[in-house]
Amino acid sequence: MGSDAVAGAELYAALAEALGQPPPWLAEAGRNWPLFEAAVGAAQHLGSETARRGAEALAAIPPEPLKTRRRRYRQLFAGPGRPRLWLYESMYVDGRLLGPVAFAVQRIYEAAGLEVEGAELPDHASLELAFLGWLAEQEAAHPTQAGDWQQLARRFMQRHAGRWLPDLGRALAASGDSVYAPIGQLLADWLTEAERPRQRGKMPSCPTLPAIPQTEVCALCGFCAQVCPTQALIVRETDAETGLVLIPSACVGCGKCERVCDFSALRLEEPSSDAAGPVALRVSHRAMCAGCGQPTVSRAELKAIAASIGEWPRWLDYCLECRPILMESV
Ligand code: SF4
Ligand code: SF4
Repeated sequence: MGSDAVAGAELYAALAEALGQPPPWLAEAGRNWPLFEAAVGAAQHLGSETARRGAEALAAIPPEPLKTRRRRYRQLFAGPGRPRLWLYESMYVDGRLLGPVAFAVQRIYEAAGLEVEGAELPDHASLELAFLGWLAEQEAAHPTQAGDWQQLARRFMQRHAGRWLPDLGRALAASGDSVYAPIGQLLADWLTEAERPRQRGKMPSCPTLPAIPQTEVCALCGFCAQVCPTQALIVRETDAETGLVLIPSACVGCGKCERVCDFSALRLEEPSSDAAGPVALRVSHRAMCAGCGQPTVSRAELKAIAASIGEWPRWLDYCLECRPILMESV
């Protein structure tokens, strides 16, 4: 399957789920959502700037009980009374539920060989998005007919989804709801971008990427990797070495890594190359425990601890298991 179309299909499918009745995953922190993963995938495979920004905003959403998420959903889309926002194309176009446009959409699904299952009307936002995701899946699965599927998707965007879903997204973004506003922004931006011709195969080019200009300043504490919302920074460890590795194509340029670095070792800078593959920002040999001979932490980390306490105590040369034995023997 072409990874471009797959990434697009996954993002449409995840947006569709997010705008249906709240699924269980919505209760988790945003960075654990399939929607976050799909946005990161679109940022990586399609070089989508809007997906990258969307992933960054989703990563900031904290977890919340599902019933609270459901309450948000009801307040926005169900009432009591008139909902703040409608999730049906028919309401936007005809000002009523189940107007002619709902039947027109139904006929398009049927012509594509699909049946609408479940309680939602065919012109519900989640079904139109799921249909766009399905079309992208077909494009990926049948490369020789990709042009036909793309044309169908373009037509559906022009006649239906593109006429109202970006507006719905913008209205959601302005709703002030801390969970649905970022989803709405991503929806509006993604659909607007999807209508523009895409530069296929282009890797994302964040204007700035993490760099460690003076490698010896980095203590390899790994804190930057822990806070990175997209796993663009990772700590890789072998028996011999510990390394801090950057995957440029996954970076959304949020700057969290730079802000948490206590050593001011890491800075966001203009990248010196457009390499998308992993880049080792800092590598250090691992120390061997003076007691059991097993690898412990990196020498860089030991040096930083010694510098912070102003001496190199003997226990620093031992692993956590051997330190109590050392203490007992003195
Ligand atoms: S760059 Fe800073 S936060 Fe990241 S591992 Fe090095 S010292 Fe720690
Ligand atoms: S590497 Fe840094 S700037 Fe890039 S996504 Fe991770 S935390 Fe954000």
